[in-house]
Amino acid sequence: MNHVVVVGAGLAGVRSVEALRARGFGGTITLIGEETHRPYDRPPLSKSVLLGETDSTVVDSDLDALEVDFRAGVAAKGLREGVVETTEGELAYGGLVIATGARPIRLRGDGPQHVLRTIDDALELRALLVPGTKVAVIGAGWIGAEVATAARRADCEVTVVEAAGVPLSAALGPVGAHTVSWYARAGVDLRLGTAVASVDQGGLTLADGSAVEAGVVVTGVGVRPSVEWLAGSGLELENGVVTDEHLRTSMPGVVAVGDCAAWWSRRYGRRMRVEHWDTALGAPDVAVAALLGDDAVYDPVPYFWSEQFGHMVQYAGHHDGERLVLRGDPATDAKWAVCWVADDHRLAAVLAVNRPRDLVQGRRLIERGQRLDVERLADPAVALRDC
Ligand code: FAD
Repeated sequence: MNHVVVVGAGLAGVRSVEALRARGFGGTITLIGEETHRPYDRPPLSKSVLLGETDSTVVDSDLDALEVDFRAGVAAKGLREGVVETTEGELAYGGLVIATGARPIRLRGDGPQHVLRTIDDALELRALLVPGTKVAVIGAGWIGAEVATAARRADCEVTVVEAAGVPLSAALGPVGAHTVSWYARAGVDLRLGTAVASVDQGGLTLADGSAVEAGVVVTGVGVRPSVEWLAGSGLELENGVVTDEHLRTSMPGVVAVGDCAAWWSRRYGRRMRVEHWDTALGAPDVAVAALLGDDAVYDPVPYFWSEQFGHMVQYAGHHDGERLVLRGDPATDAKWAVCWVADDHRLAAVLAVNRPRDLVQGRRLIERGQRLDVERLADPAVALRDC
């Protein structure tokens, strides 16, 4: 193999290039990305960029030293075995890394609708967040909560409309209820159990026919993997690019990483697609090993974080109906955590709010599959590692 093509110049793409060189690949690497920017990090877009603290989040990676042929503004349009079709012609490859990430879902309606996925989205939205502006955020998920935080910081009038009964419902289920008071305290009008029918000129029309007036509408209702360019290629697709535990796809010489990859998790015995930074960071090394003929396994305990309404929120693991154990009282304590504990007393997942140590220690306990003393666990004064 003397030529590897990496499609998608986000974090997972650039990490794939770095991993190829770190593993001694001396051939040609072509990195194509449809955005016109150098690879950059997305988590700060809804945090420091929106808050006006920084304008650039370019990944600290020396593309020249990596001797990569980086082609910005070039999109992949199709794939057949050994060839990627791009907007600038065909690229023959010996190995291919698919790292095309995900795209935000937009809602119905002809009104202006902002999403937050790219640096351009973030800078455009930031310019509109001026005092007194009525901002409607659709979705009280991770992005919605962070946008609402920044909009309030800019003294906007903020309404968050959420179809579910609690914020963060898709990720945390009923545990998301513990964040409701954050919205009220920040002066955000949070409307739960409220579905949006359409985004119109001047605001939203809700499913019950009423309206929410807004000069700026931000839709934060989730993303879909960017795999439409692979339709008809023969590659197995199902909620993203299907891979095995080595991140190999159904096509020889092709691996997939990051937000677009639905990999087989040995740990959880199911397919996972995790749209978080840590996956884009860690998966490429395993995928590249597979491409170069090694059988490394990608089997992480998923991890992510969010910064909302002055709280550092971190989660590790994967839960599915386990028993909940609270560490601290979310109603009165500034620092608390929730643990999901399986019947055999193993920790399945931990959510830590302003308790970074619980996150670090909890993640290790999950990785080791260690059994816990549940009574001690409920005492926030006892370190998690001592439970
Ligand atoms: P992407 O970053 O989406 O990169 C994929 C790239 O491929 C894009 O540049 C895209 O334009 C390009 N592309 C797509 N299709 C094509 C094509 N056909 N041809 C060529 N190029 C193509 N995660 C956390 O854990 N914590 C956080 O706090 C957090 N905050 C976030 C805040 C925001 C605003 C966003 C948007 C995401 C956040 N995330 C967070 C998620 C994290 O940023 C993503 O999981 C990560 O960026 C995924 O990296 P990726 O390289 O797989 O995909």
